[in-house]
Amino acid sequence: MNESSPIRVSLIVPCCNEARVLEQFIERVGAVVDGLPGYAFEFVFIDDGSTDDTWAKLCRAAEDRSAFLLVRLSRNFGHQRALVAGLDFCTGDQGIILDADLQDPPELIPEILSRLGEGYDVVHTVRRDRRVDTPFKRFSARLMYGFLQRWVLPELPRNAGLYKGFSRRALEALRQYRERVRFLRGLFATLGFRQTRVTYVRESRQGGRSKYGLRSMVRLARDAVVSNSVLPLRLGLYLGLLILCAWPLLAGVGLARWWMGALGTPALWVLAALVWGFAGLILVMLGFIGEYLKCIVLEVKQRPLYIVEEVRNITD
Ligand code: UDP
Ligand code: MG
Repeated sequence: MNESSPIRVSLIVPCCNEARVLEQFIERVGAVVDGLPGYAFEFVFIDDGSTDDTWAKLCRAAEDRSAFLLVRLSRNFGHQRALVAGLDFCTGDQGIILDADLQDPPELIPEILSRLGEGYDVVHTVRRDRRVDTPFKRFSARLMYGFLQRWVLPELPRNAGLYKGFSRRALEALRQYRERVRFLRGLFATLGFRQTRVTYVRESRQGGRSKYGLRSMVRLARDAVVSNSVLPLRLGLYLGLLILCAWPLLAGVGLARWWMGALGTPALWVLAALVWGFAGLILVMLGFIGEYLKCIVLEVKQRPLYIVEEVRNITD
């Protein structure tokens, strides 16, 4: 690359039923990137099984814009996998992931790019406050980030979503992760290289609906744990050891009481409570093992991470 050629930047945008915000997105991001000298932008839109007009609108927008690369997945594969497709299809020297709903303010793009220009490989964007989120979302996010950071991924920056910038070598490294059960934020955080953060205030959705309800949040947290930590499996071992250690003590006390002739019939409810408690514990541990087993099954099958139905402005 010679000195005068622009730096090519890929903007990766996953879209699932975002027809209502697309025009606004294209206009607002366009206004930011058009004014940036020294850069050439490509947009990689991934239509993740939209059932509204998203694809038709994307196709219309891409007709006279060769820098709009469109990938339509054969069905909804979920946010995480749509992003894998985006990472696979982008061609830039640097990349930025951003949501189509304008919750990730495009006005931050110049700052992200200037950090990448300073030689950083991953630029996390961290929400300064969550005023636009519902109290439930704030609470669940705090709980999730707190837990993940404490027990699963100490490197995970708090309140950083998937709005991130990355260098070519970070992209090449990310592409090597082909796991099915994945938590992309965690992968970024554990990549290594030089990482930094910029802060911003998150806006509210500019139209359409959030696809992250309670169920998908719980699923994401579960995948984050299962794909990054074996702590739940160890928990069974540690609890089992603890109980085993207490066993001689209990047996000793029983024996001593029997020796002294003081062993009465144990209250039935104490036994019932013990059996109930341990049965619950064992089932929970089995559940944990089941989760990891499911993960192994999914990985062993090696099914494709996503299936492409159609592309636009992509030649090979
Ligand atoms: N998204 C997607 N596939 C999905 C769910 C979401 O591609 O199955 C996209 C969605 O179109 C948006 C981004 O991922 O661009 C973030 O989703 P959303 O705004 O619903 O999440 P939230 O901001 O509420 O966490
Ligand atoms: Mg959103």
